Amino acid sequence: MELIYVDNNATTRPAPQVFEAIKPYLTDLYFNPSSMYEPARSPAHAITRSRETVAKCIGAGDARQVLFTSCATESNNTALLGTAQANPGRRHVITTVVEHPSVLEVCKELERRGLQVTYLSVDRHGNLDITEFVKALRPDTLLVSIMHANNETGVIFPVEQLSRITKETDPAIIFHTDATQSMGKLPIDLQGDFQHVDLLSFSGHKLHAPKGVGALFIRKGTPCRPWMFGGHQEGGRRAGTENVAFIVGLATALDLAVSRREEDHLYLRSLRDRLESALAEQIPAMQINGQGAPRLPNTLNVACHYIEGESILYRLDEHGICASSGSACTSGSLDPSHVMLAMKVPFTAAHGSVRFSLSRYNTPQHVDRIIQVFPGIVASLRKLSPYWDHENDRPRKDASTLLGQNPGTH
Ligand code: PMP
Repeated sequence: MELIYVDNNATTRPAPQVFEAIKPYLTDLYFNPSSMYEPARSPAHAITRSRETVAKCIGAGDARQVLFTSCATESNNTALLGTAQANPGRRHVITTVVEHPSVLEVCKELERRGLQVTYLSVDRHGNLDITEFVKALRPDTLLVSIMHANNETGVIFPVEQLSRITKETDPAIIFHTDATQSMGKLPIDLQGDFQHVDLLSFSGHKLHAPKGVGALFIRKGTPCRPWMFGGHQEGGRRAGTENVAFIVGLATALDLAVSRREEDHLYLRSLRDRLESALAEQIPAMQINGQGAPRLPNTLNVACHYIEGESILYRLDEHGICASSGSACTSGSLDPSHVMLAMKVPFTAAHGSVRFSLSRYNTPQHVDRIIQVFPGIVASLRKLSPYWDHENDRPRKDASTLLGQNPGTH
C-alpha cells in the first residue's frame, strides 16, 4: 500500500537537494565553525553563505538581521520574551486567539509576569476584525504578535496592513509575525510589503529542511534581549555551537522553495481545489473551515457534522493516508481545537475536523485516492451515529435537541 502523506503543515519530507547539501557537514566538514584552524573555515563560511541566502529569500537586506535558532518555537519565544525583557516600560501585548501555542503560551507567561495581553478574536471564516485591532493599540503597547498564516486552516492574516497601521499609530510598537506556515509559500519581502515587520519567525521542517532548525529575523535597531547566554555565537544573540548542517539545510530548502514558489503555488492550489470540490460534492453536511478567507494554497480543513475527526483519521490511516485533526484530540484532550472554537465552528462539527495539507511531493493520484476513500469513511461512521437520518442521508431533524446543544453555538 502506497503511503499518502498529506500532513505537511505538521512536518515535511526533506528535499533530496537539501539532503545532499547537508551531508558534507555531517561527514568530512564536521569542525566547530568557531575554531581557529583552516579546516573550520569551511563550516564557518557555510553559515555565512546560508545567512546571506536566507536574507536574500526574505528580502532582509543586511544578513546580520537573520538569527539561526533551533525551531520556530524558539524563534517565537525569543521574539516575545526578548522584547519584553528589553522594554520594561511598556506592559501591553496584542495577539490573536488562533496563534500557535508557541506564541499563546508565551503570552500566558508574560501575563504571569504582570504584562497585559489583548487576544483578538476571529470571525467564523477565521478573519480578523481590523477595527478591533486598531482599538486594541494603546500608548503602552509593547508588541503586536500576529501570525501570517494559520497552521490549522491556512487562513492568511493581512500582516502588511496590520504592521503598517501599527507603525502609523506608534513607530515604537514592535511588530512580530510567525511566518512558519507561509514561508516559502507566500512572497515575503522585508524591504517591501513587510517593511514594517520588526521580527519574523520560521522553521526549517515546514519547508522540506530537517527538524531542529529555525530562524528569526530581527530588524536592526529592534530592542530584543537574548535569553540564552554562553558563547558569542550568532553575534552574541544566541549562545550555543551552531547546527551547521541544518542551517545549510534550511537555506537550501528556502532557496529552493522561493525559486519554485509560483509553480508550486499553482500546482498545490489545483490539487487542493480539486480535493475540496470533490469532497464538498460527495459529502453531505460537511463544512470547509476558512473557505471565506484568503488561504494558503496547500491547506484544506473540513469538518463533517456528527462524527469525530479522530475516528476519521484512524480509518484514513488504515488506507495509508496520513492526515491530522483540526482538534487537539490527538494530544490527549477531547476538546475541539482553540482555532475551531475561536471560529465558532458548530459544536456538532468542531469534533469532526480533518486537515489535509499538501506538498510538492503529492501527486494527482494521491488526491484521487483520498477522493475515493474519504466519502465512504464518513458515510460508514455516520451509520454508527444516532444523530444521522440514514434514510435521507442528512442529520436527524431533532439531532441538536438530542445533543442538548444548539449546533449553531457552543
Ligand atoms: N508556529 C506555527 C504557525 C506552526 O505551525 C508551528 C509548528 N506546528 C510552530 C510555530 C512551531 O514550529 P517548530 O516545530 O519549528 O517549533
